[in-house]
Amino acid sequence: GLTGNKGWRPHWRDPEPKPEYDIVIIGGGGHGLSTAYYLARDHGLKNIAVLERGYIGGGNIGRNTTIVRANYFLQGNSEFYSHSLKLWEGLEEDLNYNVMHSQRGIINLFHSDGQRDAAARRGNMMISQGDDAILLGREELRKMVPYLNFDDLRFPLYGGLYHPRGGTARHDAVAWGYARGADQRGVDLIQNCEVTGIDIENGKVKGVQTVRGPIRAKKVAMVAAGRSSQVAAMAGMRLPIESHILQAFVTEGLKPVIDNVITFGMGHFYISQSDKGGLVFGGDLDFYASYAARGNLPTVEHVMEAGMALMPMIGKAKVLRSWGGIMDMSPDGSPIIDKTHIDGLYVNCGWNYGGFKAVPGSGSVFAHLIATGNYHPASTRHRLDRFRTGRGIIDEEGKGSQHN
Ligand code: FAD
Repeated sequence: GLTGNKGWRPHWRDPEPKPEYDIVIIGGGGHGLSTAYYLARDHGLKNIAVLERGYIGGGNIGRNTTIVRANYFLQGNSEFYSHSLKLWEGLEEDLNYNVMHSQRGIINLFHSDGQRDAAARRGNMMISQGDDAILLGREELRKMVPYLNFDDLRFPLYGGLYHPRGGTARHDAVAWGYARGADQRGVDLIQNCEVTGIDIENGKVKGVQTVRGPIRAKKVAMVAAGRSSQVAAMAGMRLPIESHILQAFVTEGLKPVIDNVITFGMGHFYISQSDKGGLVFGGDLDFYASYAARGNLPTVEHVMEAGMALMPMIGKAKVLRSWGGIMDMSPDGSPIIDKTHIDGLYVNCGWNYGGFKAVPGSGSVFAHLIATGNYHPASTRHRLDRFRTGRGIIDEEGKGSQHN
């Protein structure tokens, strides 16, 4: 089908690594690429390399279920995800790239009076943060999503918290758009370049060792998502991160049937429909630590059962593919965006199930920190030492009905 497109050129250059950069970013996922982009766009820094062990888009940025939202409750997360959603809303214009950002709305289902109260509280928090939320009762919910199992679901449907500005985006396009934008501003994106060591002298970072030779750098940023602990260990650091597998699934393409994103926290299930027509859905972690980007069958069975319970009609669709990604789980479910005790070494990780929606926000606040040395106002609480001191924990795991 693509044979007629012979004139197509790569979106970014394929440069050889230079011996030295001002800033080296380890990890060419969504967060590494957006950090590079905002360093160049907002701070005029260009002598930057993004080092990626595989290919751009091969990590979680190309494996997630693409949900974008700003419906967090706790201070720290609330203002950060609000900042990120605003960047999403101007992203296509900014990157001049179609990332297929679709604000189709998200509905988090609730199933008891207690859950309704919690949803109302969350909705009020979202509104006071400047975002949007509408509490739907059972009949309003039925009008919007009549195909849900209103009759004999084990957890009866009481209603849903509707977040109209939430939605989805095309994950690969987000990686490609940021990659092209960074490349156009002079950033070197170097693929097949695994970092194997971090050079430190007298408490200051000096550069990295890679499979393509050593590279000196004044500043080094670790943005390796599921492999954050392994990368930080190269600097002698032990991060409060466990890596776990999260699986996802897509069916054959169908005509439009699901208009929004629906999360069913009690069943550990969430679903949306891609623009190509596939039903994209997932559930909970596989619950064992691993660096294998594939999961196990009991989780597959659990997710399918939850899907069938919530919307029996999906039993007619054929599942086309399933896959897994390595999640960097932090103890409180919230991210770490910080300096380290090593001068010039920075860390960005702990994205748990939900780092796709954070890609623009994370890149912008991390770039601000690396360039200026100061915390961005939208990220004053994502400190690494909160796990040592116990102060400033942001215990909002994004689990249950807030999943992904
Ligand atoms: P990655 O793309 O994984 O980037 C990290 C990169 O670092 C990788 O490319 C890796 O190869 C590279 N790297 C690692 N070690 C080295 C090294 N030594 N040297 C050089 N490079 C290295 N989030 C949402 O907000 N909404 C969702 O709906 C959602 N659904 C998800 C569903 C699934 C199945 C999964 C797996 C994740 C989901 N997420 C979701 C989470 C989200 O995808 C991640 O939190 C986010 O993508 C992680 O950041 P990243 O894009 O930078 O990661």
